[in-house]
Amino acid sequence: MLKLDSHLSGRHFLHVPGPSQIPARILRAISFPAIDHRGPEFGQLGLKVLSGIKQIFKTTQPVIIYSASGTGAWEGALVNTLSPGDLVLMYETGQFSNLWKKLAERLGFKTEYLGQSGIKDWRCGVDAAKIEARLKSDTGHQIKAVCVVHNETSTGVISDMAAVRKAINAAKHPALLIVDSVSGLASAEYRHDEWGVDVSICGSQKGMMLPPGLGFNAISAKAIEISKTAKSPKAFLAWDDILEANKTGYWPTTPSVNLLYGLHESIEMLMAEGLDNVFSRHQRLASACRAAVSAWGLETQCMDSAAHSPVVTAVVTPEGVDADALRKLIHERYNLSLGTGLGKIKGRVFRIAHMGDCNALSLLAAISGCEMGMKAFGIKLKGSGVLAAQELLQ
Ligand SMILES: *Cc1c(COP(=O)(O)O)cnc(C)c1O
Repeated sequence: MLKLDSHLSGRHFLHVPGPSQIPARILRAISFPAIDHRGPEFGQLGLKVLSGIKQIFKTTQPVIIYSASGTGAWEGALVNTLSPGDLVLMYETGQFSNLWKKLAERLGFKTEYLGQSGIKDWRCGVDAAKIEARLKSDTGHQIKAVCVVHNETSTGVISDMAAVRKAINAAKHPALLIVDSVSGLASAEYRHDEWGVDVSICGSQKGMMLPPGLGFNAISAKAIEISKTAKSPKAFLAWDDILEANKTGYWPTTPSVNLLYGLHESIEMLMAEGLDNVFSRHQRLASACRAAVSAWGLETQCMDSAAHSPVVTAVVTPEGVDADALRKLIHERYNLSLGTGLGKIKGRVFRIAHMGDCNALSLLAAISGCEMGMKAFGIKLKGSGVLAAQELLQ
């Protein structure tokens, strides 16, 4: 066992927005011995997880499972559907849209970036009207894909993907809709088919409650058709060989056998709770977290009341308070890990994740740790966030 935190006794409270807490049932499953990934037992497991994961994305189309983190699945979505030099329209929601844009550019795609400026910058969701207007002006259909982040993990802002699909349709534009729901899926409502998403991207270590290491691309019939002629170089991430092998429950290369054991459990757990119950649990936890923030007299990074993320809340620290120094104190005293501020809001926010395997008492513990930590740090709080959250969760 690593001795990194040997001085901290008791349970570690992991409230960073990925990796999320891994349930014991999943940890047990991934500890089973590896099996022959070309043998008959594995084929049964493969078929089961490949069909089960479709329920999570709410799709009847194939879902590609990579041995990769979410970033690998970002890359897979682009290289399978685009050709070198293609133009993609992206939307700046925060640090993750920035990283995805950078990745697209490194792969040789042209990008155009929409977004908010001024006070709304990094504090609001995707404005679908801006996408519609830009697509309408693209009469020559130079834009090949619209890429948006569903749940922006760096800011705690969620965007309406059905509205983005509507905008693309209203502009009568053939661009693909590619959605990053790495931190949204399985914690926030997601409907791949109904929302007309062409490629939905996810990773295993957030709402899916697994260790990092699996990446997902849920793909539409249109995306599969386009992938047959898309000219970007690709090998490991190419859908065609994977889809062929997946027909019988196998992969062309060695899959992450043990993580797939875990995925099997994760799907069963989510379906047993019922996806609607899972989503309302996260909404309830998120409201309680916001009630705490408001009782403290602090602000959330998200300033649109209709766009608060159900999976992570970014709290803006008072002027002059270094959020990272505060996080360090909280970690050392209370064995609680909170998310750091990313990119341009580094040091200005800390993030409380309530994604995946989170319940009322684990969230209350995190809120309590924040509250005690802020007091110890000398921050004047208006009132008790713990009490406010308890009221809401009672
Ligand atoms: C975590 C995350 C990613 C990146 O995933 P990795 O697993 O770190 O590669 C991408 N997008 C969003 C929105 C994320 O939250």
